[in-house]
Amino acid sequence: MTALRRQPGVSRTVPIDELIAADEALLEADVHVSGEVRGGVENGRLSVIGIVTAETTVPCSCCLSMFLLRVPVAFDEVFDFQAAPATSGELAAQHFVGTVTGEALDVADLAREHVLLAFPDQPLCREDCAGLCPVCGTNRNESPCRCTIGDDDGRLAKLKCIRIQP
Ligand SMILES: [Zn+2]
Ligand SMILES: [Zn+2]
Repeated sequence: MTALRRQPGVSRTVPIDELIAADEALLEADVHVSGEVRGGVENGRLSVIGIVTAETTVPCSCCLSMFLLRVPVAFDEVFDFQAAPATSGELAAQHFVGTVTGEALDVADLAREHVLLAFPDQPLCREDCAGLCPVCGTNRNESPCRCTIGDDDGRLAKLKCIRIQP
């Protein structure tokens, strides 16, 4: 377990080098998470700052080709060490304060949670991905085709991309 413990006054940096299984991430390939999480206990609370990069191979949601997606993820959280979770009223008021049950926080788990939240729903191989031709199916990043598509409005082209998705 990659953990930050309840050690007042001690600030620690924990290197993160984790794999999230493709199944767990609901993605095509495993996700490699690397970076570091820094944490320190002050006034009984654990402050955590994480900077990690997640890498995996996914199909572009526009042209469907597989590409290496790199997602930088930064997070910043505060935890209370408590035996019992706060009531829902308190949670609403202090939703930014998490709770550590026991004496240690598993920062690898925390990093995984943030990585999964940060993944884009519609990853694009590049911002201006031209997508597949809706008429002949040619990957328009690789070769232009001669089909007449009706309009060249970029926003409409994006909508077409989304419709191509399975
Ligand atoms: Zn693409
Ligand atoms: Zn075409």
